[in-house]
Amino acid sequence: MPRRRSAVRLALLKPHPAASAVLTLADLAAWSRPGTALAVLGHPIKHSISPAMHNAALAALARADARFADWHYVRFEIHPADLPQALDLLHAKKFRGVNLTVPHKIIAFDRVVALDPAARPVGAVNTLHWAERGWHGFNTDGYGLASAVRETLGRDLAGTHVILLGAGGAARGAAVECLQRRCASLWIANRTRATLDTLLAALAPVAPGVPLHGFASAAPPPDLPSGALVINATSAGLRPTDEPPVDLTALPHVAAVFDMIYNPPQTPLLRQAYFLGQPHAHGLAMLVHQGAKSLEHWSGIPAAQTAPTMAVAARAALGLT
Ligand code: NDP
Repeated sequence: MPRRRSAVRLALLKPHPAASAVLTLADLAAWSRPGTALAVLGHPIKHSISPAMHNAALAALARADARFADWHYVRFEIHPADLPQALDLLHAKKFRGVNLTVPHKIIAFDRVVALDPAARPVGAVNTLHWAERGWHGFNTDGYGLASAVRETLGRDLAGTHVILLGAGGAARGAAVECLQRRCASLWIANRTRATLDTLLAALAPVAPGVPLHGFASAAPPPDLPSGALVINATSAGLRPTDEPPVDLTALPHVAAVFDMIYNPPQTPLLRQAYFLGQPHAHGLAMLVHQGAKSLEHWSGIPAAQTAPTMAVAARAALGLT
């Protein structure tokens, strides 16, 4: 037994080369690594910090519980056209769990044999759990958002007026979470009206009774509620030259601003919130909490237990202090 323990400890000290590599479909087809495998698939995947977060959490779990000694999390660069084949291979090779990032969340939605009811109105899954008959699908992004808003801004989505910026995939998940938690009202702003109208139509049945409105980002209506939480779910802010997706001075009193973008950690929108003295936070805590919830689905370990380790690893991976 002591020999086995020291072998485990050595394995923990020396990360497997696949832990940081960007693997391909060919690597997956040839996959024969023993142990319990988890993976994230994306296109592109090079910048994902999920392997750093999950492997840090798994290493911490393994120190206390030998069941996790052979668990590992790797990343695969998978073209959308190859996703069905990749999911079949991952299932055949008995990967215990899979995370999906852009652009796979919607494509994978149609490839699960069972769906968490909370994921249905989102129309996208970011977490798959292996089962004999096929993949079970979940979406932990909404949980990540709600947890991050509570942790970083001290606010609950329930009972809060929310102004949501964007009408893409992340906005749809955020909107469903706000409605399912029964926010006081939800106001969605987008640059392109047609995309906004499609989203509003899809959201209408989610939470009857919760006021739901849309508006053009460039023309905020005069009846917007005072004291709202503003959530940015657009990609405006990924580049330093981007304009903020809305002018915060054109809104009534804003209670707080949450930007889903975390890299860069300071976006033009957050800079404006800072100068206006409004409480604000970037999206790293959301990434951490959705990851910890995924790991809970695969391991049974409560997300609250692994999130702190993931947060430290995520900040280190991004070079944040
Ligand atoms: P999509 O491509 O699906 O949607 C992009 C949205 O951003 C659309 O509403 C689009 O508006 C809007 N947009 C893009 N560029 C601009 C601009 N210059 N000005 C105003 N609006 C703009 O992307 P996702 O929904 O998947 O992702 C959105 C953001 O959320 C990304 O930055 C992503 O990194 C972040 N995210 C963070 C997560 C986290 O864990 N922290 C999780 C998921 C996403 P239009 O319809 O007019 O084109």
